[in-house]
Amino acid sequence: MGQKIQAVKGMNDLLPVEQRDFKLTSAFWQAFEETVARCTKRYAYQQIRTPILEQTGLFVRSIGEETDVVGKEMYTFADSNDKLSLSLRPEGTASCLRAVVEHNLLYNGPQKLWYMGPMFRRERPQKGRYRQFHQFGAEALGFEGPDIDAEIIAMCADLWRELGILEHLTLEINSLGNKEERAAHRAALVEYLTGFVDQLDEDSRRRLHTNPLRVLDTKNPALQQMCDAAPRLIDYLGEESRAHYAGFKAFLDGLGIVYTENPRLVRGLDYYNLTVFEWTTDKLGAQATVCGGGRYNGLIEELGGKPAPAIGFALGIERLLLLVQEYGCLKADDKPDIYAMQQGEGAALQLMKYAGLLRAAGWNVAQHAGSQSLKAQMKKADASGARFALILAQDELATGRVTLKDMAKGQQATVSADELLTTLQQWKNQ
Ligand code: ATP
Ligand code: MG
Repeated sequence: MGQKIQAVKGMNDLLPVEQRDFKLTSAFWQAFEETVARCTKRYAYQQIRTPILEQTGLFVRSIGEETDVVGKEMYTFADSNDKLSLSLRPEGTASCLRAVVEHNLLYNGPQKLWYMGPMFRRERPQKGRYRQFHQFGAEALGFEGPDIDAEIIAMCADLWRELGILEHLTLEINSLGNKEERAAHRAALVEYLTGFVDQLDEDSRRRLHTNPLRVLDTKNPALQQMCDAAPRLIDYLGEESRAHYAGFKAFLDGLGIVYTENPRLVRGLDYYNLTVFEWTTDKLGAQATVCGGGRYNGLIEELGGKPAPAIGFALGIERLLLLVQEYGCLKADDKPDIYAMQQGEGAALQLMKYAGLLRAAGWNVAQHAGSQSLKAQMKKADASGARFALILAQDELATGRVTLKDMAKGQQATVSADELLTTLQQWKNQ
């Protein structure tokens, strides 16, 4: 026997059954995907699917060289033919906007798009943090807001409501203003942080000059007090930015969406301006952020497109589903409706034909394979979770009939092939 090969660390298999250290199942995941498809449709967002590999430069330019994501977490390698540097995508926005610019989609007017798929970050794996994880995200491109900022939030809230977890999520919001406002704040912040240079760790000291705002994003508890007293960007916002923020909040208030203002919220990626937000939970330990997003009005131009405003969000599907599994109401069902059994000469083929008729009428049918005793087959039928069993043994075969059993109610009947569909339908409706 050859040696077993294991999956790459931090990357999960999604199976029909729960695993000891990864409780999500493929049926549950699929139910979520269907919910997302319905929800985005209700808001008239259209799907975009982009490649999982992109040129490394795309992420460097959009996410920012100084971020953890680009600086430490990307899977990057040289393409063997032309030495081009490629990276597995660590998030979806950069690829989405690259595609929008490349195909000139905004020429047709503003776009509302959504995406879903695997992302890759080389982080320390733990519950709710993986090296291949999945995001669902949406982007509204070409809208100034703040009405669209509120629509994006409302769509999230709608999804949480449908998944039964709205009460377990908290919405935090902030405004990062525009470039000039951030520059003025930055100068004040650098001056302030320079006073604490001895206390800063190596990362923060480097960022002090490259990206001081991100020093405040530190997860080091020892630096918390220093961060709390630092100059706040929100106090540097000009009239226009303040109006945008006030407008955004007025929409949320009007829609009855509850939020907390968090002036320290800066988000992990460099491209944000004006509105930023996070949905967090206290139910997942350290992995508290389920969904994050905001405006990135400069990014389309940065990627070579005609300047256009943009806002979006991304949520971590694993984290969200761990929460839904424990507190929500998503129903997963991959059980067959009918387990079909047979015994004797010619029965297997005839059963396949009946199963075909049933499937064409919309029933999900598991057909027993092989020739075990009917008793053994009945055990399998029980274990399959199917509500109905269909039995085709020699008696039935000889008389052109089938036996049906309602496993939930215990009732049983032998009916002609013509009565098969109507009997099942009647029993189902009982
Ligand atoms: P965190 O602070 O938890 O590292 P982040 O700010 O890096 O999150 P974003 O880049 O905003 O995360 O990605 C949006 C969402 O994707 C996160 O809120 C989270 O739910 C999910 N996510 C990010 N990284 C991972 C990961 N390694 N494993 C699982 N989910 C992740
Ligand atoms: Mg991160």
